[in-house]
Amino acid sequence: MHIDGDWSESWSGRWFDTKNPYTGEVWARIPRADAHDVDRAVRAAHEAFTRGAWAEMHPSDRGLLLHRLADLIAQNAEELASLEVRDNGKLRVEMLGQMRYLPRWFQYYGGLADKIEGTVTPIDKKGMFHYVTHEPLGVVAAITPWNSPLLLTAWKLAPALAAGNTVVVKPSEFASASMLGLAKLFEKAGFPKGVINVITGFGNEAGEPLVEHPLVARIAFTGGNVGGRRIAEAAARNFKRVSLELGGKSPNIVFEDADLDAAVKGVISGIFAASGQTCMAGSRLLVHRNVHDEVVSRLLERMKTARLGDPNSPDTDVGPIATEPQLDRILGCIAMGKAEGAKCVLGGERATRPECGNGWFVEPTIFTGVLNDMRIAQEEVFGPVLSVISFDSDEEAVAIANDTPYGLAAGVWTSSLARATEMPRRLKAGTVWVNAYRVVSYLAPFGGFKASGIGRENGIDAIREYLEPKSVFINPRPAINNPFTLQ
Ligand code: NAD
Repeated sequence: MHIDGDWSESWSGRWFDTKNPYTGEVWARIPRADAHDVDRAVRAAHEAFTRGAWAEMHPSDRGLLLHRLADLIAQNAEELASLEVRDNGKLRVEMLGQMRYLPRWFQYYGGLADKIEGTVTPIDKKGMFHYVTHEPLGVVAAITPWNSPLLLTAWKLAPALAAGNTVVVKPSEFASASMLGLAKLFEKAGFPKGVINVITGFGNEAGEPLVEHPLVARIAFTGGNVGGRRIAEAAARNFKRVSLELGGKSPNIVFEDADLDAAVKGVISGIFAASGQTCMAGSRLLVHRNVHDEVVSRLLERMKTARLGDPNSPDTDVGPIATEPQLDRILGCIAMGKAEGAKCVLGGERATRPECGNGWFVEPTIFTGVLNDMRIAQEEVFGPVLSVISFDSDEEAVAIANDTPYGLAAGVWTSSLARATEMPRRLKAGTVWVNAYRVVSYLAPFGGFKASGIGRENGIDAIREYLEPKSVFINPRPAINNPFTLQ
């Protein structure tokens, strides 16, 4: 682990194995942190925040450090992508794309570091001078999942550091290696010790003590709703700032006036890219009854030829499932969909094709005849499982789309300008794509409505999530007229 600028094992000397989802074999041993390691990392981060080089550094110099880190990530993108593919089994082409895009977050927020400006208020108190400054919070805990480990860490790390905080990162126990790879680059970039610390371990053993630690000021979490709820409760108990990027059950809505060729590709990208293991997966296809059969038949035609196999091969379309428990969970959800009466028209089982070897693969699965109150339409599967629901009117499409506990994202496929402008207003989702799906940018706020989370990442306002406004009144002529009333 990387604590206070040093590499260390866990205090207990314990380790855990991490497996390659394509082979099912152990490929690395990771230190298993507990509360003792967490305390060491948080104290180091607090010390670095309170005094020393980082605390005294001019924001322009902080920005330069972030730019240097961006350059190093660009130079090491191949290696970081290899670590991620081996750890979570996602396609190399996807992870390399993410790693090549990652520097943008550090460049963008690095550029913002010295533009955190306060304001002078035309205050309504005679003779008084008032201004607002924005100060960093202190130690930020960044807790991330396994599906896009470094991308989702960058969404937290870059604005937190640009704002002047220090950070303790706890990556997923299923995909920790790339974060340790990134830690080597903080050292090279020249961040003072203690500014970024990485502890590895399990949610209950390392995550919980991190969230509970009294010196942690803010928690930035991406993950599932179970962990998210526990973290929100812990944050509430201690009045900590918190952002939660949680799950989704996002609708991909195909109207009858859509370009069906593009729509079918958009539906595939929404649910079968990354084997459906993305928070923004378009796991519910809402399709107008008049084009239902045509869309389903085109989906089947394309997906029947989808190639499963080695995530490192450029010819592979669908890679393995990242973790063994997740494989079991997906198969359980498929069984649930069948039991509820949805019609399985594709896949529906573990993939045992020769090219899948001993890997944890699920056949791309499509259910038709799904009703929106079935559990398969309401619960996040986080796998390559699509529920197809037909609708007859725009009203019905909106009602079905909004009828889940979640509200992370939505896709709309239409050639109508009216629908393209009205649907984003009517859909309860943090991101709406029209004639597109699965697009993210460092410039565009991302986060959820309803049970999909609290707060937003990315975009110019995200840096405010790592700052606390301070209101300062200066009275040049000390005088209190009546000490027993509000001034
Ligand atoms: P998870 O919640 O099991 O774990 C995420 C992280 O939280 C891990 O590092 C884990 O160790 C830690 N953790 C778990 N319980 C904790 C606790 N009580 N206290 C502190 N830390 C704890 O999620 P996962 O299975 O790794 O990832 C899949 C989930 O993440 C899905 O639900 C998916 O939708 C969600 N996700 C959301 C987004 C988004 O931006 N909205 C992006 C990717 C993934």
